[in-house]
Amino acid sequence: MTSEPRPLPPGVEAAVAAMPKVELHVHVEGAQRPDTVWAMAQRNGVALPAPTPEAWRAFYRYRDFAHFIQVYIAASRAIRAPRDFTDMLVAFHADQAAQGIVYTEAFLSASLYVEGFDQGAVLEAIAEGLALGRAQSGVVVRLIPDIARQVPDTQRAVLAFTLAGQKAGVFIGLGLGGLEAGYPPALFTEVFAEARRNGLRVVAHAGEGAGAESVRGAVEALGAERIGHGIRCLEDPGVVAMLRERQVPLEVCPMSNYRTGVVAADAPHPVFAMLEAGLNVTVHSDDPPMFDTTLTDEFRFLARGGVSPERLRTLTVAAAEASFLPDDERERLVARVSAQGGRAPGV
Ligand SMILES: [Zn+2]
Repeated sequence: MTSEPRPLPPGVEAAVAAMPKVELHVHVEGAQRPDTVWAMAQRNGVALPAPTPEAWRAFYRYRDFAHFIQVYIAASRAIRAPRDFTDMLVAFHADQAAQGIVYTEAFLSASLYVEGFDQGAVLEAIAEGLALGRAQSGVVVRLIPDIARQVPDTQRAVLAFTLAGQKAGVFIGLGLGGLEAGYPPALFTEVFAEARRNGLRVVAHAGEGAGAESVRGAVEALGAERIGHGIRCLEDPGVVAMLRERQVPLEVCPMSNYRTGVVAADAPHPVFAMLEAGLNVTVHSDDPPMFDTTLTDEFRFLARGGVSPERLRTLTVAAAEASFLPDDERERLVARVSAQGGRAPGV
C-alpha cells in the first residue's frame, strides 16, 4: 500500500512540500520518535517492553489497533518528570515546523498523568515547552488534553487538570481518545457538558474503532465540534447526511487507519468517498513516527489518489476554519493558508 509509493510529478511534489499547513489531529506523545522515547525511558529508569532500541523500534509494527494502544501507552509511560513535557513539546514544535506546519492543535494523553504527577509543576513545564518551542520554531501549538475511553474513571480528574490548564492559558479544549469499541459516548456526557459550560472546546475520536452510531453519539450526546477520524460514518447514510448538513469537520488520518488495520491494506481509503460525499474533510497525521508518516506524506497520499494541489489547499483552509482559535486569530490563519505561498500575516 505505502511501502513503495510512486513519486509525484515534480510540480505537485513541490506544491505539497511548500504549502503552509494546519494540523488539528496529532498526539504529542505519539509524535515522539522511538529513539527519543528510548532515551527518556533510560533517563527516568522506566522499563520499555523491548530489550534494545532496535527491538523497541521493531515493536512499532502493529498487529492491530489494540497492539498500537499497547505501544502508545508503553511509550507514554516513559514520561515521568516535568522536564519531559518541556523537552517533548520543544521537539514536537521542531518536527511540525520541518513540514511547513504553521499552526497545530495537539492532543495530550492526560488520563496517563492524573496520578503520580505534581500537576502544578507539569502545567509550568508545559507552558515553558510551548513558549520555547514557539520561540525556536515559529509554530503556534495549542493543546487539548484527552480522556482515554478505556479508563473512564480518570475522566473527572482529566477535566479538573484541563480546567486548571485553561486558567493557566495552556489548554483550549477537551478530547476523547483511546479504545472506542465498548466505551460509548454515553459514559462521558456529563463531563463533556461540564467542559462546554466552562468554555472548553470539545472534540472526540469516533467512527474509527466503532461504527457510525459512535459518530452520531459524539456529535449529539457529547456536543463534539469536530470528529477525530469519523471514517466509519460511511456505514450509515443517515449519519453521512447529518455530518454533511452540519458540516462537522472530520479529522481524517489515512496512514493511521492503514497501520492500525482499521482500513485493510488493499482497500481504497474512505477519505476519497468522504470528499465525494461533500463532507467537511480535513487531513492529519495522528501519531507520525509511530505510523511512519508526516502531514506532508498524508498530502502526498491524497495527491497520488488524484486530489489536486488546489484541492489540498482548500482542505488546509477547511482545517484553519475548523480550528479552535479566537475569531480574529482564526481569520488571520485562514488568510495565511489561503494566500499563494502563505505570505499573508500569521497568527
Ligand atoms: Zn488520534
